[in-house]
Amino acid sequence: MTDIVFDSTNLDWDKQQGLIPAVVQHHLTGKVLMLGYMNQAALEKTLTTKQVTFFSRSKQRLWTKGETSGNTLDLIAIDKDCDNDSFLVQVIPNGPTCHTGTESCWKDGNAHPFIDNLTNLIISRKGQSADSSYTASLFERGTKRIAQKVGEEGLETALAAATHDKEELVNEASDLMYHLIVLLEDQGLSMADINKNLLDRHTKASK
Ligand code: AMP
Ligand code: ZN
Ligand code: ZN
Ligand code: ZN
Repeated sequence: MTDIVFDSTNLDWDKQQGLIPAVVQHHLTGKVLMLGYMNQAALEKTLTTKQVTFFSRSKQRLWTKGETSGNTLDLIAIDKDCDNDSFLVQVIPNGPTCHTGTESCWKDGNAHPFIDNLTNLIISRKGQSADSSYTASLFERGTKRIAQKVGEEGLETALAAATHDKEELVNEASDLMYHLIVLLEDQGLSMADINKNLLDRHTKASK
């Protein structure tokens, strides 16, 4: 385990009346998980125990996230902002972070909202009539055609890179991403499965 480097001098405790807001972000996915407040004791405890600890304004005491639920936040890194009055806390969560049982306290804490929205749009095209949209027609033509498109777009992406055509590369990579999401969806999978697999590999590699 590497040590956590954090320079706590110059923090503007006075401006925040002793409670600095701390945005908590998933270290691997970038998802925004929750917001809490730290006083100096909470910051010190967070750094020494590597378990994210806040000052609870409702309990009026130090509160280590997960102390009753077990859904703790392992500290990976902490940073202060441009004017030293807020924290960004990178964590690996143990279980859901919100007390309502969801991963994030926000419905839209997702780091890749565009991919999610596009995926939902693609899903909504499934089963619609083929002449209503290109996506609907792809689903109707089936796995072989969708897989063939992924192959084509992959080749076009590679060629664009090989010919150093950046604009073309962005276009072809977009085509590839779109068709890949359609193919995964056709197979009952999604980018979430890919994300999870990459995270598993990353976690194994860094152990
Ligand atoms: P925990 O720290 O997970 O053991 O939860 C203890 C209590 O802290 C819960 O019953 C909630 O009242 C509160 N709490 C837990 N997680 C959150 C959160 N993400 N945001 C706000 N309050 C929380
Ligand atoms: Zn600031
Ligand atoms: Zn919550
Ligand atoms: Zn293309």
